[in-house]
Amino acid sequence: MRLSRLLITTLREDPADAEIPSHKLLLRGGYIVKTASGLYTYSPLLWRTLKKIIEIVREEIDREGGQELLMPILHPKDLWVRSGRWDRYVADGILFTLQDQKGADFCLGPTHEEVITDFANTLITSYKDLPVNLYQIQDKFRDEIRPRFGLMRGREFIMMDAYSFDADEAGLDESYKAMDRAYRRVFERCGLAFRSVQADAGAIGGSGSEEFMVIADAGEDAILYCEESGYAANVEKAGSIAPEAPPCGTPQAMEKHATPDVRTVEQLIAFFDLPAGAMAKTVLFEVTWAEEQGVVAVLMRGDLEINEVKLTNALDCLGLALASDETIQRVTGAEVGFAGPLGLPDDVRLLADVTLKERTNLLTGCNETGFHCLNVNLGRDTRAPEFHDLRLARAGELAPDRAGPLKEARGIEVGHIFKLGTKYSSTMGANFMADNGKPAPFVMGCYGIGVSRTAQSAVEQNHDDKGIIWPAAIAPFACSVVVVDVKKPEQLELGTQIWETLRAAGIDACLDDRPGRPGPKFKDFELLGFPYGIYVGRGAAERQVEFVVRQGMTKADLSVDEAVAKVKAALG
Ligand code: ATP
Ligand code: MG
Repeated sequence: MRLSRLLITTLREDPADAEIPSHKLLLRGGYIVKTASGLYTYSPLLWRTLKKIIEIVREEIDREGGQELLMPILHPKDLWVRSGRWDRYVADGILFTLQDQKGADFCLGPTHEEVITDFANTLITSYKDLPVNLYQIQDKFRDEIRPRFGLMRGREFIMMDAYSFDADEAGLDESYKAMDRAYRRVFERCGLAFRSVQADAGAIGGSGSEEFMVIADAGEDAILYCEESGYAANVEKAGSIAPEAPPCGTPQAMEKHATPDVRTVEQLIAFFDLPAGAMAKTVLFEVTWAEEQGVVAVLMRGDLEINEVKLTNALDCLGLALASDETIQRVTGAEVGFAGPLGLPDDVRLLADVTLKERTNLLTGCNETGFHCLNVNLGRDTRAPEFHDLRLARAGELAPDRAGPLKEARGIEVGHIFKLGTKYSSTMGANFMADNGKPAPFVMGCYGIGVSRTAQSAVEQNHDDKGIIWPAAIAPFACSVVVVDVKKPEQLELGTQIWETLRAAGIDACLDDRPGRPGPKFKDFELLGFPYGIYVGRGAAERQVEFVVRQGMTKADLSVDEAVAKVKAALG
């Protein structure tokens, strides 16, 4: 491609509304243009990168036996009602819904479990047809509450979504492992530093779920990992060995103490001169289930934090939020800061973290303004709580396998693999004829790769203060032959020759034959981020050029043959 014929517009200044480096750089490089909130037009240059990612995804999933198909983007409501997801997705506000001219309801697909399950039910009839893994690469639509960071969280974005169908769990295990292999190769080939981490499988449970995280400070997810054992999990899911708690002794008689204006854990431990681990804090949540709403009290050791995702799973609820001050006052009859497990109204469920199971003589609130209690013993002085693992794992704590301490990193979720089991097939009545002659529901897995998010993640991970440094496999062009001054015929001629030589060697090279001063062309090379460059300037008459490596912007004066050999060696 001659860059003189390609639409390239670069900006020198950082755009005002972009926060993270990759978003700024994609805008500055003219790679994306915002069409509306969460909606972007990919420029011809970025589309080249996206097509390369798509091709890598396609090759690797095909290699594991995946079959590509294409489903409609527009989904009839009826399918989503059959899976039971319509109301929930509408309530969450994530679904783009619309009506046809007859008034029938539709949505724009945020994911395709319903459509594929219905498809499989129609075409896959016997265990002899299994296993099958079907995938597509297509735009998805989600009305995200906070679309942000450019392509990272769009409202329309490109996803590869795959769905596996097996006769039994053992088959699902194999399909899942195959996708795990494919994903690793995809992200390796894309040149990304990533980690696969255990992920929360939600209320569905399910026997396996892993997220593929590109490690980057701008990542929205926190992950915890152990270098010694390789254990790695999304913080939402992560476990750890709880830090030691202070000794607590045999149960003593409960004592009520006046604690005027002493409300927080810090204030309480100072007031009573006790370690935080000797206390149980009581946190109230307002919880929404499909059919009802309610308030739940959660007890957590004073030195530990609550993991709201684990709490959501334990309650099997649709959502929860910290209770408002009014709710706390209404439920406890006391001001904020004095809530406790004693004498809570009957309709307030009492949950406690498992670390409190063996604890005696706790310091807690007692639902009376200005008072706290010492020597509270759960089940004796309070209702027996429901014990669950509700604790947030933290960096520094020992990994669950005790191999070493947990470390923290930020990650961008670029892919997700998930064992669904029979959740959709049984609710939607999608069956095949099993080898015993009886109908059985498909055992399913689902898998997603955020293609557009992956492109931006590559930039987030590979840039410097001058611009983007694309990994070669997904760069819009792997090498740019920059003609420093196109008005000089010998430069243009030699540049064109080199470009043709590279292309003949199968290298995706472009020719920067744009008119104009050299300075801005060099700046563009740095900003646009093609991994290799050959600058053809004053030395053209002697067939001398400059070979440039974008990573580090190292430059070497070489003969044409040497420079071409370098590029071939680097990209071969
Ligand atoms: P997130 O937790 O980031 O909202 P998700 O877990 O809801 O994502 P999945 O349903 O697992 O997303 O979708 C599969 C993949 O699609 C994700 O791993 C991610 O790479 C990508 N993806 C999801 N939502 C978006 C979005 N709004 N914009 C761009 N890519 C997205
Ligand atoms: Mg996900």
